[in-house]
Amino acid sequence: MSGLFAAAFLRKIGWDVDVYERSPVELVGRGAGITTHPELLEALELSGAGTRDLGITVERRIVIDRKGRVIADKPFPQLLTSWDRLQRLLRDAVPPECYHLGHEFERADQDGSEVVAQFAGGRRERADLLIGGDGIRSGVRAQVAPEVQPIYAGYYIWRGAPNEADLAPQTRASIFPHFTFFLPERQQVIGYPISGFDNDSRPGRRRYNFIWYRVGDAETLRRMCVDTNGHQHAYSVPPPLIRPDLVADLHAEAEQELPPAFLDTLKKIERPFFTPIYDFCSPRMVFGRIILLGDAASSARPHMGFGVAKAGDDARALADALAAHDDIDRALAHYQSVRAPISERIMRHGRKLGTHLGVDLATDEDRATWKMLQDYRAMMDWIAVPNFLAAS
Ligand SMILES: Cc1cc2nc3c(=O)[nH]c(=O)nc-3n(C[C@H](O)[C@H](O)[C@H](O)COP(=O)(O)OP(=O)(O)OC[C@H]3O[C@@H](n4cnc5c(N)ncnc54)[C@H](O)[C@@H]3O)c2cc1C
Repeated sequence: MSGLFAAAFLRKIGWDVDVYERSPVELVGRGAGITTHPELLEALELSGAGTRDLGITVERRIVIDRKGRVIADKPFPQLLTSWDRLQRLLRDAVPPECYHLGHEFERADQDGSEVVAQFAGGRRERADLLIGGDGIRSGVRAQVAPEVQPIYAGYYIWRGAPNEADLAPQTRASIFPHFTFFLPERQQVIGYPISGFDNDSRPGRRRYNFIWYRVGDAETLRRMCVDTNGHQHAYSVPPPLIRPDLVADLHAEAEQELPPAFLDTLKKIERPFFTPIYDFCSPRMVFGRIILLGDAASSARPHMGFGVAKAGDDARALADALAAHDDIDRALAHYQSVRAPISERIMRHGRKLGTHLGVDLATDEDRATWKMLQDYRAMMDWIAVPNFLAAS
């Protein structure tokens, strides 16, 4: 997303931009829901990607109890989209000849006012700027700021997005139309509808985005990161390699703990996968002519659902700075001075909301926030809501 946003915004101000993606095949079907924010919609419009057929609007938020009874309810219209849809819109905003699959960045060398990027296989590209939009495990950041490392939050999520048509009629009638919470102690289950295959938003063709937050220490996570072949992964396991015994345990625990509609949702996920939650914020985003953007620069815990919006805002700020300054170094300094403090605030806000899960409550403020969030109405007011920075 970051790379495409940067390309779209910079092309608008007259730069030639090429995007190099390490995946050899098109990135589709990640099956993840994305909550939208006014900043995201604005970035999509201004970048030229647009917001057509972006997703599904829910009208209400509800909280259910273990039996599935609605214990809180709040009108809260919100547009929910999907990773696939955003990627498609942004891909269409960048000419296909500027998007290069199968290019894994290896290293960069700065040469005066230029950068030479080297990719696996030997290809080298010379440019005025290299933008590292290569995600939370950024190889670009590893080169320029190896000391900046994501920090494990002490919890992870199980997730997936089953087809609406596969869900039980009772699930479709009860939770499916809503942004739904189930909030037992030290856990969160959140669900909302998103478009289905090929962005189909017709009733019966949609999906339901399911997220289950679980607390787990670093040792638990290490054990989960051993794949079906016995190989130990450092951070997470590609979904096809997640061990069946973990999924069996997940289903067994769900039988004990989830309300019927969320249990049905989980059971209908063909291949549930887990994502450990990390965050960090690089104090520097500019290293000569190498820039960090999006998750490569900072990543917050996903409680605000703001990562793609932040990527769009980073890219927009970079283009604004380059358009406003003749001198590139001054433009980049401006970009960093605007975005680094905001990124830090976003990360800190994510930690605040993460106190709900009761992990490492180190300060009085943490404990007070934890207490405030034990009221499920507060969770409805704070999780993935627009304009949270103004309110925080
Ligand atoms: C559970 C969860 C829920 C979330 N929910 C939301 C939400 O509701 N709303 C929202 O806005 N955000 C959400 N986010 C955050 C959002 O997914 C990220 O912030 C966003 O994907 C960041 O985009 P990015 O392009 O910076 O990084 P990425 O999406 O990680 O993309 C990085 C790209 O770089 C490529 N790459 C990596 N290394 C190399 C290399 N060496 N050479 C070439 N290419 C490389 C990768 O293949 C990838 O395509 C969520 C995140 C999580 C974990």
